[in-house]
Amino acid sequence: MLYIGCHLSSSKGFEAMGKTALEIGANTFQFFTRNPRGGKAKAIDEEDVKRFLKTAEREGFGRIVAHAPYTLNPCSASEKVRNFAFTAMEDDMRRMEYIPGNYYNLHPGSHVGQGAERGIEMTAELLNRIIKPSQSTVILLETMAGKGSEIGGTFEELKAIIERVEIKEKIGVCLDTCHISDGGYNVKDDLDSVAEEFDRVIGLDYLKAVHINDSLNPQGSHKDRHAPIGKGTLGTGAIAAVINHPSFRGIPCILETPNDLEGYAREIKLLKEAYRG
Ligand code: FE
Ligand code: FE
Ligand code: ZN
Repeated sequence: MLYIGCHLSSSKGFEAMGKTALEIGANTFQFFTRNPRGGKAKAIDEEDVKRFLKTAEREGFGRIVAHAPYTLNPCSASEKVRNFAFTAMEDDMRRMEYIPGNYYNLHPGSHVGQGAERGIEMTAELLNRIIKPSQSTVILLETMAGKGSEIGGTFEELKAIIERVEIKEKIGVCLDTCHISDGGYNVKDDLDSVAEEFDRVIGLDYLKAVHINDSLNPQGSHKDRHAPIGKGTLGTGAIAAVINHPSFRGIPCILETPNDLEGYAREIKLLKEAYRG
């Protein structure tokens, strides 16, 4: 089963996102839990959520993916920023329980000069304060492009965070195809080796979702600029290989390409046609 969707605006609530997803041929989607550059979250409308859950059940949606705001940096050098990360994430975890059993994608953070090791420790520390055994949400660490002082630009760094997380059933990884190519992995020509390396370093059991993006820049560029499918350095063939790879089967595939809804509908159609079910 191919679970394919894209990033959608959450400004009109869950029912609206479900409806939009159906209109563009999607059976999953991603959304920001709150303003991506600020911090404010809208109150949950329980009736809106209930209507969405009904639709999702009826239409056979896969798991959906919430994305934490970009301003959330668990390993900032600033205590104020770290406190925001804790407060926002704790609130997001509470809100996620209205849509139980889904994913919460998080950028592992930027260490801003403190060094990757310290960053890894701080992010794991925050995760251990946040994760409760009773929660139904699995938090996904996103593979990053290694831009600036980002941590999570290598599988080893993600592994180092996961190792330190106490409740491992509640942690996973979301692999971003643009980011890992920019991070130096050969997504374009040798996906098998990338998957093998992921399995060896982290373990494929931890792979829970994929961000499907082409990249404007070549392998190893550490830039993080997404391109529409087929308009970047990866190309449609490499992206089709990702959705068809045995290691990526059955997990939500989320497009974060620069597009309007029509563009997303086209890409979803393209990938459905490329999928060999
Ligand atoms: Fe992201
Ligand atoms: Fe991403
Ligand atoms: Zn990105």
